[in-house]
Amino acid sequence: MEVILQNLTKIFPSRNKKSGEEVVAVNDFTYTIPDGSLVGLLGPSGCGKSTTLYMISGLQKPTGGKIFFGEDDVTDLPTEKRGVGLVFQNYALYPHMTVKQNILFPLQNLKGEDKMTKDQMVERAYQAAKLVQIDELMERKPSELSGGQQQRVAIARALVKMPRVLLLDEPLSNLDARLRLQTREEIRRIQRDTGITTIFVTHDQEEAMSISDVIVVMKLGVVQQVGKPQDIYDSPINLFVAKFLGTPPINVFNGEVRDEMLYINGEAVLAVKGVSDRPVTVGIRPEGFIVAPNGKMTCNLRAIEVMGRDVSIVSDNPAMLTPVIRSIVDADNKIAAGSATVTFDLKPHKVFLFDTETEERIYFEV
Ligand code: ATP
Repeated sequence: MEVILQNLTKIFPSRNKKSGEEVVAVNDFTYTIPDGSLVGLLGPSGCGKSTTLYMISGLQKPTGGKIFFGEDDVTDLPTEKRGVGLVFQNYALYPHMTVKQNILFPLQNLKGEDKMTKDQMVERAYQAAKLVQIDELMERKPSELSGGQQQRVAIARALVKMPRVLLLDEPLSNLDARLRLQTREEIRRIQRDTGITTIFVTHDQEEAMSISDVIVVMKLGVVQQVGKPQDIYDSPINLFVAKFLGTPPINVFNGEVRDEMLYINGEAVLAVKGVSDRPVTVGIRPEGFIVAPNGKMTCNLRAIEVMGRDVSIVSDNPAMLTPVIRSIVDADNKIAAGSATVTFDLKPHKVFLFDTETEERIYFEV
């Protein structure tokens, strides 16, 4: 099911009538979510991702714009008529019911032509439980399950009505690190198996990057960039997006362009064809550095952290705007222990220039 968001906007009125400060939680969001895809809404706290999800679910009403599921305009439809499955971060299972009763619950409320016989309901519940691999646990109570199993019950309960769209709000945030990893792969598998268009909200860029077909990066209610995770990582549209994606994060510097040459801390580090003379903010991905004995960029060496296949070099430079410079290089690179400095050459496609005022990306030819 294609989900079309057309100029979607949500403005919350001010709580304090005198101050009159309204909150634009989502500002003019237009995007068509492709049928059968897994889309991650990503951004820092307060950027409007949950509000977007709630509007798609029908739990909140937009102040402007429209939402279509395929051809159907669902903008004014109540949640129960939209055919959405919802999973929230606190699993919200009924504690006094068994897993089976929890999953059956949404089916028991169906009315009219959707009404099912008991046998049909049980069959459907087992199908959903099998999909999330909890069919062995049907007689247990939620308190007798692990966090990951409880979250899977919540997903089965959302799937049992065969929703047109599955909506997940921070579904992994209550799980420990290992379970998060496992459950996010599980969500990807379930989504592939069912082919249900799925939209999930997270503030964790790694989570969004690892399982989404498409990510939407938001800031203060405004969509910054939409695209495949790798494309956005490789070609961020502005400094905010460049900083938000990537672990370790991108390194940021003050720089200057003169005669189509980029200078950082007075050193000529990279030719940037087509950029006029100006101050710039420079972003360099950690993997964009090449250790070279007579490299163009000189940094003060602070530490070398061996991580197996790779080495993380921690250094600093007077022009940096991040607390340290972190570069990831192949473990074959030998840097003399006790060196005071390290010199780097740069991989041009890992270097981004941004306008110092607008923070928009400046494009240049390599
Ligand atoms: P988080 O990750 O913290 O949940 P979020 O990106 O999901 O953040 P939203 O919950 O969508 O953000 O909130 C977006 C903005 O709208 C925030 O500034 C928030 O304070 C505001 N907001 C959300 N709900 C309401 C409400 N009911 N009344 C007033 N303002 C609200």
